[in-house]
Formats: sequence, C-alpha cells, structure tokens
Amino acid sequence: MKELVVVSGKGGTGKTTLVASLAGALQRKVIVDCDVDAPDLPVLLEPQTERVFPFTGGKKARIDQRACNGCGECLRACRFGAILENNGLFEVDPIRCEGCGVCDLVCPSNAVTLQDQKNGEYVLANSRFGPFVYGALDPGEENSGKLVSLVKKAARDLAQREGLGFMLVDGPPGVGCPAISSLSGASYVLIVAEPTPSGLHDAYRLFSLVARYKLPAGLVVNKACLSLGASEALESKARDFGFETLGRLRYDNQAFLALNNRKTILEFTNTGIGEDMLRLVSKVRSTLYE
Ligand code: SF4
Ligand code: SF4
Repeated sequence: MKELVVVSGKGGTGKTTLVASLAGALQRKVIVDCDVDAPDLPVLLEPQTERVFPFTGGKKARIDQRACNGCGECLRACRFGAILENNGLFEVDPIRCEGCGVCDLVCPSNAVTLQDQKNGEYVLANSRFGPFVYGALDPGEENSGKLVSLVKKAARDLAQREGLGFMLVDGPPGVGCPAISSLSGASYVLIVAEPTPSGLHDAYRLFSLVARYKLPAGLVVNKACLSLGASEALESKARDFGFETLGRLRYDNQAFLALNNRKTILEFTNTGIGEDMLRLVSKVRSTLYE
C-alpha cells in the first residue's frame, strides 16, 4: 500500500486545492481528509455518504445523585473547576470536565462514573473521484490525533476491501499531534509552502519533523511568483534536508474561481496555474511510481 500524505506548516497554503487536483488525476486510490479540525475536501468533492461512525475520543465524569453523600471531596480534588455545588447538590460541568478521573478516585461512595463522550465522527463516502474517507471533530473538542489515526485505519481497510493500492491523504496543517498521526505509514510526504516570512518559518519546522521520521519528501511552492527569492530560499532549505522540489504553482485568480465553482484547478482550466498543476501531477506520478 502506497500512501501519499500532503501537509503544510499552516492552513490556507493551498494544500487541499492540490489534493483535489491529485484526486482527479491519480487512479485507483482512496482519498482521505485527515484535517479533522476543518475538513474542507468534502466541500470540493461533494461526496455521497455511505456510512457514518461516531468518534468517542474522551470521557466525561457524571455524578449519580442517589449515591452521592455530599462530602465535597470531588469538588476539592478537581483541578479544572468542573465540579459545581448547588444547595448541597454536586454536579459536573461537561464543558470544563477533562475526563481525568480524579473525582472518581477520591469519591468514597462510588457515585462518579466516567462515560464515553462523542467528540466527532468519521465518514465513508463516494466521490466523483472515487472512495473517500474523512473525519470531523465536533467544535471545541480535542483528541484530533486519535481521530486522524482512526480515519487512516478506516481508509486502509477500505482500500484493502476494494483492492486499491494507494491512499491520497490531505493531512492536517502544522506540526502537532494530528500532523504526526497523519504521517504514520506515509510512503511519501508532499510539503506545500508559500514564499512568505511565516511560510518559510512554518516550512522549516515541518521539514525538521518529516526528517525526524526519516520519510521521503518533496516540496511544492504555492504562489511562487509572490517572491522568487523566498521561493528559492524554501527550495534551498528543502535541499538541505534532502527533499527535492517537485514543482511551483503560480499565483493565479483562476485558482479562486475554480474553488468558488467547487471545481479542481484541472477541471477548471488548462492554462496558467492549470499548466503548472499538470506538470506537478506528472512529476508526483513519476516520483511515486519510479
Ligand atoms: S474527571 Fe477530572 S476534570 Fe472531570 S470532573 Fe472529575 S476531576 Fe474534574
Ligand atoms: S466525592 Fe462522591 S460522594 Fe462526595 S460529593 Fe463528590 S460525588 Fe458526592
């Protein structure tokens, strides 16, 4: 099973735009959106949902009022201020509760239980470019790394059932737990970066992360014409890490028009950025299958 994981140092670098074009151009794959905090690929691919699975990534405490003796031990022990007392009644504030379980440990009456909490969901779907798996955390919820790993497992199982040997993964932005989780099992990492001061800074951090896991990787510079000097700096730093540059995409209003029409760049235009994208897809294909 080959896994191409597309990542960026921050959101809004054009990562999903690139993944959507690759999804239309590459054959016999499962498409995966691991950006579970803000999954945008479904907006472009307009998938038909096949199955939805709840994600229970954490726990919340609950107090059984019939068993509670009102001693207040849980209130004194909770470091998150999640136990509320109202006229001698002790309750858990689910927004503040972190599910650490200390209240359960200190309760002398076994009045506390820790219950699974639904934090989001993951979805198996069909899209115009083939099978598609994505996850979505509920607003304000945590454990995105765990959901990313579930989404990838569901995608691998689906690929196996369908006899497909390739996963195209839209990874979460940044260098945190969800990004690390999305890199697990990657055969190749495509790093998308913009030639701006913050883009350079974020890309360097991502290069270090990918190098630490000894993964083969390549760079794509998006909106390269904004600063040719910064584009060259990105490419030079990538070379220092042993990563080649697979291509540059120009800044082009057609990219925004394509998104507004819910089309990939390759569906929308074969000039300007469309030409850049065609060259890039061809380079990605040859890199993956060389
Ligand atoms: S589980 Fe932890 S955070 Fe939640 S109420 Fe109990 S002690 Fe507080
Ligand atoms: S520690 Fe247990 S018995 Fe005491 S107030 Fe909390 S829930 Fe009730």
